[in-house]
Amino acid sequence: MRPRLILCNKDFEKMKIVMLGAPGAGKGTQAKQIAAKYDIPHISTGDIFRANLKEGTPLGLKAKEYMDKGSLVPDELTLELIMDRFTQPDCKNGYVLDGFPRTIPQAEALTKALADNKDEIDYAVNVEVPDERIIDRMSGRRACAKCGGTFHIKYNPTKVEGVCDLCGGELYIRDDDKPEIVKKRLDTYHAQTQPLIDYYEKAGKLKEVDGTQDVDKVFADIVKVIEA
Ligand code: ADP
Ligand code: ADP
Ligand code: ZN
Repeated sequence: MRPRLILCNKDFEKMKIVMLGAPGAGKGTQAKQIAAKYDIPHISTGDIFRANLKEGTPLGLKAKEYMDKGSLVPDELTLELIMDRFTQPDCKNGYVLDGFPRTIPQAEALTKALADNKDEIDYAVNVEVPDERIIDRMSGRRACAKCGGTFHIKYNPTKVEGVCDLCGGELYIRDDDKPEIVKKRLDTYHAQTQPLIDYYEKAGKLKEVDGTQDVDKVFADIVKVIEA
């Protein structure tokens, strides 16, 4: 058995966290750090769609149609993908979900799937960043094609330009990070994803953090609310 991770008399093993926030708010950046600290898998539906696209699977090609427009992939397709991911053995230790759920029906499906096992998520962490900051974040985002690492030319630069600090892979600009698509993604966010803040508030799971601070400060605040 692996050692149990116990902090402040609380048992963080099997912790299940949902990351909420606009595209570019820093969900992925924070989710990676949470996953490392609490030894739980980081599950990003966007990363899974992009990996499928890279391999040219039917799912990836279908998802691309929506991603390129700044729209959401239909719930049915997304739910099939995520429910399959949950069956993998690493999920028994909990997880941090990044980019899922993104609609009320997705959140309801997650709540139900967990409730069927007498389970529930522990926290929904909302990383709050106003729209006017988002364009700046997205236009400078650079992603690693090999390991999924995320950097920013201004706020989180790599040691060598264009090269991933984590694996040496080549960095690229995501197709959907172009300003006109980012605008559409923000509209999509407000219409379909923002209502989840209210959903998790009503469920008593919501934790808010100020995402406009430095990456390390945002992370410290997340740890504080999780361990409070
Ligand atoms: P970001 O973190 O910048 O918002 P993601 O990598 O999470 O971007 O998502 C990229 C795109 O993948 C989204 O714009 C959407 O088209 C699709 N996508 C990711 N997760 C979901 C989801 N849960 N439901 C529907 N579409 C999704
Ligand atoms: P999301 O997963 O919510 O779409 P990312 O974690 O990919 O967001 O972050 C979007 C961009 O903003 C990336 O280029 C990332 O390096 C940068 N970033 C993340 N957090 C911060 C922060 N607190 N301050 C400044 N830039 C940040
Ligand atoms: Zn890399």
